[in-house]
Amino acid sequence: MRFVRTDVDVEIPATLSHIGSQDHATTLNRDGVSIGTVEHLLAALFGLGIDDVRVEVDGPEVPVLDGSAAPFVILLHEAGLRPLAVPRQLLRVVRPVEVVHGAKFARLLPSDHFEVGYTIGFDHPLLRHQSLALRVTPRSFSEQIAPARTFGFLREVELLRKSGLALGGSLENAVVIGETGVLNNKLRFDDEFVRHKMLDAIGDLALLGHPLLGRLEATRAGHALHAAVAKRLLATPGAFELLPAGAPSREPIEQVAPALRPAGA
Ligand SMILES: [Zn+2]
Repeated sequence: MRFVRTDVDVEIPATLSHIGSQDHATTLNRDGVSIGTVEHLLAALFGLGIDDVRVEVDGPEVPVLDGSAAPFVILLHEAGLRPLAVPRQLLRVVRPVEVVHGAKFARLLPSDHFEVGYTIGFDHPLLRHQSLALRVTPRSFSEQIAPARTFGFLREVELLRKSGLALGGSLENAVVIGETGVLNNKLRFDDEFVRHKMLDAIGDLALLGHPLLGRLEATRAGHALHAAVAKRLLATPGAFELLPAGAPSREPIEQVAPALRPAGA
């Protein structure tokens, strides 16, 4: 997978070694040229089992759209997918690896499937604790994860605006959490927040460059920790193996797409 900045004619591979800034969003860069907010689009691609794509963008940031991956899933469905004659390799976790930062951690464990278990806890009455675990398939991703939107706290919105970030700083493309509740939107899921963190993690794991057989367990993590555990996996001898894979078994996405169009959203 690769991004192409068509405005400056630079190709940036979607791999861990091209990660730049990870404040609030994941940025990839190469030779001083960057592409920002790649994680929601990468999550849509990875979640649907797409691992070969050229993404052309005529500016420094992937459009945030509604702050979720659902618009990308719908567009990918409309564009259509086709298998390539190129052999695929699965990346299988063989031995656990983890990265711990105080109360935050991310670990990758062996599994026969791609699974994500995520726990969040914030110093806010709405978000003290949310936890969810899911086996990630094109269908479960499309229905359970893709529609979950970026969120931010009102107290941080001013800060984000000052730093020039659209993500989390606009009422149109993020769920904004005030002191007593959600300000601007009805939630798409009661636990939309943890689902969005799973979305972010899936997008960051896409930078491994292969479909993953393994389970991510993360608590209070974020982009930096997602990438750190993925890098640790690749840097730890004997922690992973590459297996030949057949074409992915595809659940028909046309049955999934309508579920992504929540009324009024
Ligand atoms: Zn996100």
